[in-house]
Amino acid sequence: MADLTLRGISKEFGGGVRAVDSVDLTFANGELTALLGPSGCGKTTLLRMIAGLDTPTGGRILLGSEDITDVPAHARRFGMVFQSFALFPHLNVEDNVAYALAIAGMDKARRRNRARELLDLVQLADYATRRIGELSGGQRQRVAIARALAQEPRIFLLDEPMSALDAKLREDMQVELRLLQQKLGITTIVVTHDQREAMTMADRIVVMSAGRTEQVGPPQEIYNRPASRFVASFIGKANFLAGTVRDGAVETAGGMLHLESPAPFRNGAPVSLACRPESTRVSTRSRQAGNEIAAQVTFIRDIGPNREVFLEAGDVPLICEMRGSESDDLSVGATVFAHLPPEALLVFPGDHAGIVS
Ligand code: ATP
Repeated sequence: MADLTLRGISKEFGGGVRAVDSVDLTFANGELTALLGPSGCGKTTLLRMIAGLDTPTGGRILLGSEDITDVPAHARRFGMVFQSFALFPHLNVEDNVAYALAIAGMDKARRRNRARELLDLVQLADYATRRIGELSGGQRQRVAIARALAQEPRIFLLDEPMSALDAKLREDMQVELRLLQQKLGITTIVVTHDQREAMTMADRIVVMSAGRTEQVGPPQEIYNRPASRFVASFIGKANFLAGTVRDGAVETAGGMLHLESPAPFRNGAPVSLACRPESTRVSTRSRQAGNEIAAQVTFIRDIGPNREVFLEAGDVPLICEMRGSESDDLSVGATVFAHLPPEALLVFPGDHAGIVS
C-alpha cells in the first residue's frame, strides 16, 4: 500500500474559522501516526477530510500518486472508528461487523466467514450472537474496530477511540490496538488529545496547535527535543523558568544557569528555560557545582515507586520526580537546592515561568 500525503490542506468554516491551516504531512505506509493537540486545534477536522467526510477548502490529498481529494468517502475504502463507536444496537455483534460486506453485495456464507475471522482477531469470537447492549465498553470498541477492518481498508482512521473507556481499560486497549495494527501492517491515523495514548501507540506524533502542525516526529524525539515551548508544555510535564540571555547562559531570578551549548539568542533576549521533572534533582546540600537554585519544599507525594517533590523557588513553582529512596531526607518546609543540569535544559524565546503539566 502507498503513502498518504497531504499537500497544503486547509479547512475554513463559515465566519472565518480556519480549523486547519495549510497542513503538509506524509503518513508512511504501515505506520501508526497520532494527531495530538488540545481541544479545538483541528485534529478531527483533519481526520474527517482524510476520510472524505469533510471537503478541504484548499490543498490536495494523495494516496500514492492517486489524487483522492474529490473521491467520496465510501469510494476511498478507508475504515473509520468514531468516538461513539456508532454501532447498530438492533444488530448482533456479527451482523454489525458484516454490515458493510452485505451492502457491498458479498454473499452470506463469505460474509459470515469474514466476520468470524475478524471477531477472532479482536478476541470476540464467542460473542458473535450477542446484542450490542450486552457488551462492555471495551468489547464495543473491539466490535467497532472489527467492523472498520471488515472491508480491508486501505487506511485505518480512529477518532478518540479510547475516550469512552475507563482509565485501566484504555491503557490495555492502547496496547492491544497497537499490536493489532502492527500485525496487520495497516497505515493508521489516530486522533487523540491524550499524550500518553499517543506516546504508547504511535510511530510518529503530529503535534497540532491552532490548525497547524507544531512538530512531527517519533515520541521520544518529541519528548526529548520539543521544537517549541508549546510542544514542551503539551507533552509531559516541564518546569519553566523565565530569564535573560547573558553571554550564552541565562540569568534567572534564582541565579545564572548554563546550557550545554550557548543559548542561540542575543544578549538581553527574554527566554524561558524548560527542565523535565525527572531531570530536576533536589538535595538538602548544595553541590557547589553551579546550575543550582535555592527553593523550599511545599508538598511531597508518592506516585508508585517514585515521589513528586513540589518546590517554590522565589515565586516560581517547580516539580521534581525522583525515586522514593532518594528523597527520604526531604520534608515539607525544608530549604533545598534544585539542580538543573545543563544537558537537560531547553531554551525557548519568551519569558514564561511555572510548572506546565
Ligand atoms: P476536540 O479535541 O475538542 O474534538 P479538535 O482538535 O478535534 O477538538 P476540531 O473539531 O477539528 O478540533 O475543530 C477545530 C475548529 O473548527 C474549532 O474551532 C471548531 O469550533 C471549528 N469547527 C469544527 N467543525 C465546525 C463546523 N462544522 N462549523 C464551524 N466550525 C467548526
